[in-house]
Amino acid sequence: MPNPLPAKRIFLSPPHMSGRELKYIQDAFDTNWIAPLGPNVDAFERELAAEVGTRGAAAVSSGTAAIHLALRLLDAGPGDRVFCSSFTFIASANPIRYEGAEPVFIDSEPDTWNMSPAALSRALEEADRIGRLPKAVIVVNLYGQSAKMEELTALCDRYGVPIIEDAAESLGSSYNGRASGTFGKFGIYSFNGNKIITTSGGGMLVSDDTGALEKARFLATQARDPAPHYQHSELGYNYRMSNVLAGIGRAQLEVLEERVRARRLIFAAYESELGDLPGISFMPEPAGSRSNRWLSVMTVNPKESGVAVPALLQAFAESNIEARPVWKPLHLQPLFDGTAYYAHAPGESFCEKLFAEGICLPSGSSLTEEEQARVISCVREEWKQGIAVSA
Ligand SMILES: *Cc1c(COP(=O)(O)O)cnc(C)c1O
Repeated sequence: MPNPLPAKRIFLSPPHMSGRELKYIQDAFDTNWIAPLGPNVDAFERELAAEVGTRGAAAVSSGTAAIHLALRLLDAGPGDRVFCSSFTFIASANPIRYEGAEPVFIDSEPDTWNMSPAALSRALEEADRIGRLPKAVIVVNLYGQSAKMEELTALCDRYGVPIIEDAAESLGSSYNGRASGTFGKFGIYSFNGNKIITTSGGGMLVSDDTGALEKARFLATQARDPAPHYQHSELGYNYRMSNVLAGIGRAQLEVLEERVRARRLIFAAYESELGDLPGISFMPEPAGSRSNRWLSVMTVNPKESGVAVPALLQAFAESNIEARPVWKPLHLQPLFDGTAYYAHAPGESFCEKLFAEGICLPSGSSLTEEEQARVISCVREEWKQGIAVSA
């Protein structure tokens, strides 16, 4: 019989309000700017662009919408291919299908767990040979860690293929001193409830191409032509962010660096308290990059530890602790059955290994030391039993 659940549930990555959100929401109410658009939206766009160092930003209803708009702006459609990281959340690739284009998935590599330059290189070479270069490459920065953007950008530049950087999880991170999300033609961020900062739901498209961002705003408001009546010549969407939610975003952006520091401390504590256990490895952070450590992720080698990920997940569940497997690679998803996939080395898929051994630990910036101690002792307890079983 499992013990009764401890009273308070520990969540994976709950929203963490700063307290100043209500001031901006109050402003929106006082001026009756409740509809989409308004002064908070304009200010949030300006403030976010200044924070990451792009020439502009367009606030939208979700990170998924931002990816969709980027693909529309790059004219991806039926008959086109779009390359995308395989090791990611489904939202990175769904917009490829919205546009009727065909995804091709690219494996991860061990240093960053993100897109493998070796796999991308082979994929681009082959595509070039058959005259089917992709309309874009969607590079994802998972769990806050930047991909090897220098190598990936050099490869894409060689073939003239634009990059869309999915930085939904890496706002506040950097690579070679530059903000994650600003290396591609377009970058996208998400403010979903579980992300490092949140507007309850929302996203941002960033770019140095302010003309393209203007077009994105046009498409995101039903593509309404300039005319006194309602006139439309292009297919548009209802994708803009509301002025109330942008107010939440402004207050959240003020504490972004605090949130990054808190999550990095949580990661460091896990690493120092659990790193000595046999079979545990933590997600790397190569020199030159700084991860926001959105989620603390570790891998568990079942042979070295005597512990399997499903058993550890079960132990967390019994202790009322929310932990999750890592993202299931998209080339393994039934939705994308039959899709082309390029492994890191031919016949050697790295992200499949991560999927088998990876686990995400509670990582919210509001996690207390006491809660973190509960997580740590739950893991250490499993190891005691695991070693006993395998001994
Ligand atoms: C959260 C997330 C998205 C989607 O963002 P939404 O705002 O939820 O639409 C896209 N890509 C990745 C990697 C994500 O984690």
